[in-house]
Amino acid sequence: MLKIRNLDAGYGKLRVLKNISLHVDAGEIVTMIGANGAGKTTLLSTIIGLVRPMAGEIEFRSWDCWKLSSQDIVAAGCVLVPEGRQVFATMTVEENLILGGYVLQKKEGKAAVLRELEYQYELFPVLRERRNQLAGTLSGGEQQMLAMGRALMSRPRLVMMDEPSTGLAPLVVRDIFRVIVRLRDEGNTVLLVEQNARAALSIADRGYVLETGKIILQGPAEDLLANRDVQRAYLGRE
Ligand code: ATP
Repeated sequence: MLKIRNLDAGYGKLRVLKNISLHVDAGEIVTMIGANGAGKTTLLSTIIGLVRPMAGEIEFRSWDCWKLSSQDIVAAGCVLVPEGRQVFATMTVEENLILGGYVLQKKEGKAAVLRELEYQYELFPVLRERRNQLAGTLSGGEQQMLAMGRALMSRPRLVMMDEPSTGLAPLVVRDIFRVIVRLRDEGNTVLLVEQNARAALSIADRGYVLETGKIILQGPAEDLLANRDVQRAYLGRE
């Protein structure tokens, strides 16, 4: 689904990502964990075409992302649920969701959008209850669900999530991570970037550890959870 080889990327002359290689296969949850400033957001921005690579290759569904605009990458089925949610605060929940179905509507018409809307309401029952509420008045957890629902409205092949757990209570994080597992179980593919390493590794199939722009460890999620260096640095346990 996604293959990255020897990627360097950054801002101006600042190289943030150094020689990153990773892959995400169809049907997997892959997590990228790392501390503040490690370069996680930069990685997602580079995949989606907002930051241009300095070197290396990014291939999404065999398309060469170097040659695609951000819009083309999204149209090819790669979507990003950004950090901080960024829902449209002065629009209702339903208006936000319908907006997420814009590309789908152009391709398959209104009926497909309504079917997808129904699926999002089934995944996130609270969004149905609050369909007419302004998005800016939702709680943080509800806004995260809306941001996910809006991204999913386009029926993407790959969903990338940037720190969905930030600022949320543990019970809300649990609900959101349950939905991510359900998405995977229904055949979706997820790249999950998280500082909350324990929660992310406990639902992921595989993981990568990013430290100051370099991948320093990778492997099955259960191996990373059991790794002493990961435990010491990211799981708050000796
Ligand atoms: P966080 O968890 O805090 O979001 P992160 O792992 O996502 O951290 P990035 O946001 O990718 O890290 O930042 C990596 C580095 O790139 C940081 O040193 C940051 O200051 C720098 N950086 C990020 N965005 C820009 C930008 N637009 N221009 C210049 N430098 C940037």
